[in-house]
Amino acid sequence: MAFYLDNAATTGIRPSALEVMVPLLAEEFGNPSGAHRMARAANRVLDDARETMAACLGAEPGEIIFTSGGTESDNLAIQGSLTARPGIAVCSAIEHHAVLDPVEHAGGRVVRVNEDGLVDLDHLADCLAGSEDVPVSVVSIMLANNETGVIQPLDQIERLVRKLAPEALLHTDAVQAMCWLDVAELTARADLVSVSAHKFGGPKGVGVMVARSGKNVEPLFRGGGQERGRRGGTHNVAGIAAMAVAAKETVAERATQVPRVSELRDRLADGIVSTVEGVFETGVTSPAELQPSDSTKNDKAKNEAKRINKIANICHLCFADVESEALLFLLEKDDIMASAASSCSSGAIEPSHVLTAMGFDRQLAFGSLRLSLGYGTTEADVEAALNTIPPAVQRLRERA
Ligand code: PLP
Repeated sequence: MAFYLDNAATTGIRPSALEVMVPLLAEEFGNPSGAHRMARAANRVLDDARETMAACLGAEPGEIIFTSGGTESDNLAIQGSLTARPGIAVCSAIEHHAVLDPVEHAGGRVVRVNEDGLVDLDHLADCLAGSEDVPVSVVSIMLANNETGVIQPLDQIERLVRKLAPEALLHTDAVQAMCWLDVAELTARADLVSVSAHKFGGPKGVGVMVARSGKNVEPLFRGGGQERGRRGGTHNVAGIAAMAVAAKETVAERATQVPRVSELRDRLADGIVSTVEGVFETGVTSPAELQPSDSTKNDKAKNEAKRINKIANICHLCFADVESEALLFLLEKDDIMASAASSCSSGAIEPSHVLTAMGFDRQLAFGSLRLSLGYGTTEADVEAALNTIPPAVQRLRERA
């Protein structure tokens, strides 16, 4: 048995999505690039999936490029834009590494965020200014952050980009948003949009990049001519079909899942914050506002008001004087699956770049815990976490 609170990392596949995969792998397994009956059948599956994904994402079918997931879509957006129109890449400091790394690799500009995790619009404006002879080629700002769940004001960002860098393509990574936000509406004015199936009940290894008509990017992979030359490689037909089923179900149930899950998330966050000292809820309590061990400022009404700017499923906390690795170890002993955002690079544990960018000090950032709910999360998962986390934190602090 597991109390799974790591849905931002990945979700289980929806039964309806799994169901469409098996015959497409075992019986109707034609290669859509071929010319015979089975190939044509596979092609029809792709066409249907393309239409469904387009409807779910507010795009035209011809604007959908099937990829191997969020990482590829993000890399395609950045590198494909830079190759098509050489120039400067700009992204925020809290992007997923699938955006941040290609931008940094290309010597791009990284926009600061404030302590609530929101893009600093003044700094964005400075970064968009370009230079005399090198224009800004692509700007990438995520719709919702994968660690904190904070939602960016994409409409304001879009206006700035159009005004200050009219030649640039605007990309948004909507990977974490699909279950919780109206992605079709919120990304309608972005040129490029990334999503990934395994975050909304589809299989791993499949995703989409939307490239609006006329906003083309150069392919990362050539060969085979698939996706009208925009992405070479034999299609993952079963995965694509399953993604479309999962997307349709996700969009259809959003209106009921968002209030249900946000209520569970609020219960979880409020329950922990009201019983544990020295805990900070990111995007809600800013690091400057609180001193460690001062939880009196964790005001429930204020926290709930500020959570409006977060997607419904993420409860992200930083515990003073606790190391996340040790906390995760204790939680797993009680069958609670969660995650921390620190990453292990070159053998050394580094605090999350997102928390660092928001101004959390290293010590506090090392005590981070992300509990991410999903469409399958139940009250029992939340109760288990509420029963386990406060005593686990206390035990770790007593040991220190
Ligand atoms: N972008 C965001 C915001 C993510 O959260 C993730 C995965 O965690 C990715 C991109 C990468 O997606 P994928 O796992 O499909 O490569």
